[in-house]
Amino acid sequence: MRTRFAPSPTGLLHLGHAFAAGFAQREAAQAGGEFLVRLEDIDGTRNRPEYETAIFEDLAWLGLSWQEPVRKQSEHFDDYRAALTKLEAQDLLYPCFCTRKEIQAEIASAGQAPQGPDGPLYPGTCRSRSLAERADHIASGAPYALRLDVEKARRNVGHPLHWRDLAHGEFEAQPQLFGDVVLARKETPASYHLAVVVDDALQGIALVTRGEDLLPATHLHRLLQELLTLPVPEWKHHRLITNEHGKRLAKRDDARSIRSLRESGWTAERVWEAVGFRER
Ligand code: GLU
Repeated sequence: MRTRFAPSPTGLLHLGHAFAAGFAQREAAQAGGEFLVRLEDIDGTRNRPEYETAIFEDLAWLGLSWQEPVRKQSEHFDDYRAALTKLEAQDLLYPCFCTRKEIQAEIASAGQAPQGPDGPLYPGTCRSRSLAERADHIASGAPYALRLDVEKARRNVGHPLHWRDLAHGEFEAQPQLFGDVVLARKETPASYHLAVVVDDALQGIALVTRGEDLLPATHLHRLLQELLTLPVPEWKHHRLITNEHGKRLAKRDDARSIRSLRESGWTAERVWEAVGFRER
């Protein structure tokens, strides 16, 4: 039984991360399992090596220990490429040449667009391009993203998919919530959704713990697991730590970073108390 804490090195850890890490570690400990840390550092433009170092220092200061080696997503693009190839072989991906602006304009001219968890859904402009048109665009050197044809994927699967959250119960997967998601871009050859599903399987994560903000994403992850014939873990989405105004903590709130709390005299014990872990 393995759990993981999977931060992105794009900022300093805050109380919300301490809670997420402590939660994953506690679930593993209670089951006599292993706790892993994974660096989700695919977005090369936002990662900083100093944040990476800070993550390990802060987790150690909090008293956590984890299984080595730590998996760094940026070192495993081959694995994500192999997953894309598998989806391509099922003819479930299509190149999308739309810029963000073009998508916005398309949505504006349509008057409205169905909303997904991450905003308005992609209107599907590039889904219906002919093979010749696609080839021409690609040959011209136009940058493109790879999108999943989610309805076709659901049709191919042919039956409803289910997943289980130990805190929230059984769900029938609704991957169409996200529309035709981008699974790869030129600058970032694997999206969060693709990489997380591949990694959790490769690392043998039996229980995926993460914040409730990511619960909708699990609907899509369940479909990707099915398409890629990956094992299906269980999930436990946990509450989010909020600030005094009830707002979810964000990396921008530097004042609440573990580091700054520590510099202002907090002990690790006090951090655990602040996030509601009474006895550790
Ligand atoms: N890297 C993600 C985050 O920082 C973690 C997502 C996950 O645990 O699946 O929110």
